[in-house]
Amino acid sequence: MPRETILIDADDTLWENNVFFERTIEEFLTLLEPSGYPREYARHILNETERRNIRQHGYGVRSFGRSLEETYMKLAGHLAERATVEAIHHRMDELERTPPSILDGVIETLDYLAERHRLILFTKGEPAEQAAKVERSGLQIHFEAIEIVAEKDVRTYRTLVNRHHVVKSRGWMVGNSPRSDINPALEAGLNAVFIPHPATWALEHEEVRTGAGRLLILSSFRDLREHF
Ligand SMILES: [Mg+2]
Repeated sequence: MPRETILIDADDTLWENNVFFERTIEEFLTLLEPSGYPREYARHILNETERRNIRQHGYGVRSFGRSLEETYMKLAGHLAERATVEAIHHRMDELERTPPSILDGVIETLDYLAERHRLILFTKGEPAEQAAKVERSGLQIHFEAIEIVAEKDVRTYRTLVNRHHVVKSRGWMVGNSPRSDINPALEAGLNAVFIPHPATWALEHEEVRTGAGRLLILSSFRDLREHF
């Protein structure tokens, strides 16, 4: 196979991410139960609040914490307690310090791929937070470049393709999110490898659309070795 350029997502592709957020949300919904709101309703309000805060403040633990706090204040109303708000802040500090838990097969597969192809890590989020995660993961040695953007959409894919002179027919995006990894990459003219993760965040769900490029669907990161 000729040398390809492979863009690789990080959260829930190279390491676990959303499970830690989901665990926090479950605890949060339990905490809200005494206010009398069903869990599904509280989750719905949280999702709406997150959507709004992401537009204003971007992704990341701080933005998530803000959404939890706002949802709590809204639903608990006059029953809201300062101790609970402090508990939310404390949990955010813990989340931020959680070391990346690298997914099975990732290290050996990156070793294999980096010898044969050009790898670029492409992730979205709060720049300092994502950079710290990459650093702590120790995986940066496999990548020619690390690109962190506020949003992965067709525009940022095109910018990246131009900056790194990616030949689109020989460029791939690998990731777990239809909304951020697969659909915009295909729309930008790249090929894509979709590796679904069972804990993918609800806000990343979207139907996979086909584009001009090729689309592979694999069950694990390790399976990339069979194709590259
Ligand atoms: Mg991801």
